[in-house]
Amino acid sequence: MSISLVDLKQEQLLKWVTQALERSQKGKIPDYIPLLQKADPNGFAAYILTVHRAYSTGNLELTFPLMSVVKPFLLLYLLADLGSDAVFRRVGGQPSNYPFNSLEQLQIDRGFPRNPMINSGAITLASLLSGKDAAEACENLRLWLNKLGNCHLFLDELMLESVLSLPNVRNQALVQELAAKGSLDNPQLALNIYNYICCLAGNIVDLARLGLLLVSPPTALKVEHCQIVQEIMTISGLYESSGGFALKVGFPTKSGVSGVVLSLVPEQGVIACYSPPLDAQGNSVGGLFLIEQIAKALSINRF
Ligand code: GLN
Repeated sequence: MSISLVDLKQEQLLKWVTQALERSQKGKIPDYIPLLQKADPNGFAAYILTVHRAYSTGNLELTFPLMSVVKPFLLLYLLADLGSDAVFRRVGGQPSNYPFNSLEQLQIDRGFPRNPMINSGAITLASLLSGKDAAEACENLRLWLNKLGNCHLFLDELMLESVLSLPNVRNQALVQELAAKGSLDNPQLALNIYNYICCLAGNIVDLARLGLLLVSPPTALKVEHCQIVQEIMTISGLYESSGGFALKVGFPTKSGVSGVVLSLVPEQGVIACYSPPLDAQGNSVGGLFLIEQIAKALSINRF
């Protein structure tokens, strides 16, 4: 007998959430974006959404910036807008064993970003968004996602101000290298667009609805594009932890440094979680724990 997401019990979910919160005490709040550093380590929200049913726990009102969780949706937008050939001329589709903002990885790859989930790849893809400036490029993506996903993403201007208040030397080094190797024409504009889209924000329901676009695509999207995004998330959505997580859990998953994590349960639904303390790779400790428990519950019953 197999159980699926719709069979999960609310009591079971609450038990895992309590354990996830305990574990998250071991994580760290990132300190390189001042406003993110102010996040409540005990802030928590989880939303499990299938086409038939939704479960939730925690604070559904909490809003947070998507940060790197925007990357799969940037990829989806560009696949729909430009097609896969144009996208994969600019970025690879291989996993990386280096951190998400690694200059070394980019140097090894001679300036060709290894995948769209690391910063070099996402910054390069951000440069392909159309718009007269960063604000307009971000707005185009925001409106498209809100319409398709029926969600309410907004630009978190205070977060953007905070991101821009400290120079991010790693991202600066990445764009210089990309420009030096001919991968970017206008490095500052590309980085600016990237910073804007990382500050698109919403609540946990918005995040889950975005995820459902990839699992149960509306007719406006091509199924093959959603499959490409899912594959890229599986191999690189959690940076250096992607391979281990894929073996253990197997769900395409993407994390963001704000403590968000989005996992796709193919043909069933999505698990969206927000819990700010991060592990050494920059992934939400509580979020990954919760997803792992759900995956175990689904597979134990499968055999
Ligand atoms: N804006 C963040 C950065 O470039 C996003 C990174 C992340 O969420 N892992 O550092």
